[in-house]
This record gives sequence, C-alpha cells and structure tokens, in this order.
Amino acid sequence: MSELHPAGEFFSRATGKLVDFILPPLCLACRAPVQGQGGQIGGLCAKCWPRVDFIEPPRCDRLGIPLPFPSDAPMVSAAALADPPVYDRARAVARYDGAMRELVHALKYRDRHEGVKLFARWMVHAGADVLEGADVIVPVPLARTRLWGRRFNQAALLARAIGRAVNIAETPFALERIRRTPSQVGLSAEQRRRNVAGAFRVPERERAQVAERNIVIVDDVITTGATANACARTLKRAGAARVDVLALARVTDPLTPGL
Ligand SMILES: [Zn+2]
Repeated sequence: MSELHPAGEFFSRATGKLVDFILPPLCLACRAPVQGQGGQIGGLCAKCWPRVDFIEPPRCDRLGIPLPFPSDAPMVSAAALADPPVYDRARAVARYDGAMRELVHALKYRDRHEGVKLFARWMVHAGADVLEGADVIVPVPLARTRLWGRRFNQAALLARAIGRAVNIAETPFALERIRRTPSQVGLSAEQRRRNVAGAFRVPERERAQVAERNIVIVDDVITTGATANACARTLKRAGAARVDVLALARVTDPLTPGL
C-alpha cells in the first residue's frame, strides 16, 4: 500500500494542498507550523523570531545602519561621510541575514506573498521618520523581462501595502527601467553602480507626480545602495524635493561579499 506510483503521488500532492488549509499557519521563514501564536508574533515561529536582526536606534541618519553609541542629535556614520549617498535617508527593518534573508528570498523567488502585510507593518515602523511628510511612495521597478519571468514586483507589493497603511499615494509607474540590467547578484559595489547607472527614467506623464515632492522609494533589499542611488538621482533630476529609501532589509556591512 505504501508503494509509490503515479496515482499515489497525485493523491499525496492533492492531500498536501488540502492540509495547507487545515493546519495552523506556517512560519514565513522556515515553514514550520506556528502553533496558535501566528497572529500574535506575526507569522514567525519561536525559533525564527530571534533570528531577525532588527535595526534599532541609534542608527546613521543617512544610511540607516546601526551605530554603536546613542545620541540625542541625529548622527551620520563614517561610511556616509566618506561616500555620501544620492538619496537623503535610508531606513530598513533588519539586517539582511538570518531569518530576514530567508523571508526576502521567499518573497522574491518563491512567490510567497502572505508576509507582505506584516512586512509593510514593520517597514512603517522602521521608516516612521521618512514617511512623515512624504507625498509619494515609489517602488523600485523591475525590468520588463524579469517582471515577466518572476510575474510580480515584490517592491511594488510592499509599496502598495505601505501606502495603504499610512494613507500616502503610491505611484507604481513614476520610475521606469529604460534598459535591461543584468542581475546585481555577485557584483562588486563598483560593478553594481555601473550596472544600474542611467537605467531608470521618469516618464513624461509622471513628471507632475515627482516634481517638488518628498518621495520615499521602496525596495526589498538595499545591498550596496547602487540601485537606490540610481533611482534617487533620476527622481532628483526630475525635480523631486527629497528622496528617501525604505527597505525590508539592508546589508549593514558593505564589505559582505557574495550578496
Ligand atoms: Zn520558523
């Protein structure tokens, strides 16, 4: 009876689907059942929850990376002074490691969207100061070919959820990719910068949405900041007053290789 044959496999797969609806919700990171606590602790199991490295103040006012010492006044890191970003301020929920890395991968590559509402809530909290006074939320666009391959833009999903939560207009088409860019994965900071330079534009019909506005760009991960900077440069050239960046995760050590 336990022998595997095509029909048996079909039934187990069919049953697997059914079981998804009956069992308690699964951990967004490791897929373990979250027994009776999913709602309270936000869809992560008790093992994964402490594996999210939330970025708490004190943090660099420009880059949003953690700083070692608290201060009453806004502080800027040595990294931001040495190589100032084009954008004004970046904020991210957590470091891009541990369970956050798994959450981003699930969102990005495995079409798991059930975490979007929770992630948006985290992002609203982490980005409270940049969202204050913001006029428009703009997601980093995917190239058309990648949108086709992956079918959706995770940055746009996050931007829409954040926009709804804080009642700020989200303009999904304010930035447009004007050329295909190879994936940034595995590239050095300098290669990333060159890869995305001149890759974006503000379409003519969207210019009124951008000029003199305070804009928050939304992305899933800030790695070297090359994409965020390219987007910010494009928006500022189109007349944006202020351009901040809000991400779910960010690499806090720019020397971390292989991301
Ligand atoms: Zn878990």
